[in-house]
Amino acid sequence: MSLSQLARSIKESPTLKLNETAARLRDKGEPVIHLGGGEPKSKSPIDAVVNCATQLNSGDVKYAPADGIPALKKAIIRYTEEHYNKLVGPDNIVASSGAKHAIMGLLYALLDPKDEVIFPAPYWVSYPEMVKLAGGVPVVVTPEDGTFHPTVEEIAEVVGSYTKAIILNSPNNPCGVMYSKEFIAEMVEFCEKKSLYLIMDDLYNRLVFEGKTAPNCYEFARDHTEHSKLVVVQGVSKMYAMTGFRIGWAIANKEICEAMTNIQSHQTSGPATVSQWAAVGALNGLQSSIESLRLTLENNRNVMVERLRAFDGVKVTKPDGTFYCFPDFSAYMRDSQQLAEFLLEKVRVVTVPGKEFGMDGHLRLSFCGTIKDTMEGIERIKWALDPNAPNELYLGERKLVRDWL
Ligand code: PMP
Repeated sequence: MSLSQLARSIKESPTLKLNETAARLRDKGEPVIHLGGGEPKSKSPIDAVVNCATQLNSGDVKYAPADGIPALKKAIIRYTEEHYNKLVGPDNIVASSGAKHAIMGLLYALLDPKDEVIFPAPYWVSYPEMVKLAGGVPVVVTPEDGTFHPTVEEIAEVVGSYTKAIILNSPNNPCGVMYSKEFIAEMVEFCEKKSLYLIMDDLYNRLVFEGKTAPNCYEFARDHTEHSKLVVVQGVSKMYAMTGFRIGWAIANKEICEAMTNIQSHQTSGPATVSQWAAVGALNGLQSSIESLRLTLENNRNVMVERLRAFDGVKVTKPDGTFYCFPDFSAYMRDSQQLAEFLLEKVRVVTVPGKEFGMDGHLRLSFCGTIKDTMEGIERIKWALDPNAPNELYLGERKLVRDWL
């Protein structure tokens, strides 16, 4: 068998793989705590379910326009006006099978071979692979000051003749940090000046804590014409806890949208219509579920951060949003892959190695599960790593004895 060079150059999604590992262990009756997850536990909003079920019950589920049904575009237009104070037309929107597919389509639409796409570390695991799939070259910028905040200068330093686009994800998966208003403003200005595409992956921008709000990139744009190279990516996965419906979208100039639509029309013919109706329900329905999810997550975050701060040697940056925390465990083990495997083997806690996000020594810990799991997961990690912890720990009926430190 000879697979393509492209296929051989692409890694599997480590986060999806971890979900499978956790499910397999659970099926075997293992007391697994999954701190590696990337989706809220809450149910989809009732308006989404009802809208989807109505469409399904009609039995009339057919092909639709490749870039999204008119009702979804209308709902996205209203959402964008309300939350970005930005008026867009239906031709500025492409609905896709999740934000992931929106980004993928966008990269196909923008990149020529060897074109470079810059993004800061830590970054969402899929960016490098998606850039490679589209024939481009990922370029990572790691903040030199040891924080999760890149500077415009650091990004400017790697911009060259092959640079086509910059991706910013804020609040950020995996570290939960939200980039400052000043930084976003400067980046919008910088990209306009350099004529670079700026892709704002805003998937988590409603899940922000302590009364903060995510900066709105459009506020800093000078170019509001159809030449604008500013692109916003959004979706229902995180804010409405609708990961399985697979609906996301891009907002961009008409030329990009047309190209994305053409590409999508040959790939998927557009997202599943029943899912699109679910997204219409969520976007037009009662919005209270977002606030209740946000409050739950803020509470979980507080508990996780407080417990992590009780570890000697673990450096924690308090997340401003999302449902991820990205502590630095390098004082215990530098190799995050090894550390994650160790924690899974010894105390059955699933974490994601920082290496996958471009920062070794860290682990991504999700606080989107129950508060009980969050607390117990951290307790188990502490027990496994802290030489001062008692020698024994009970996982249900099973007694663990620490014999490795
Ligand atoms: N961007 C980021 C930063 C994400 O974390 C994710 C999902 N983990 C996505 C995009 C893709 O989301 P979707 O489920 O809508 O494809």
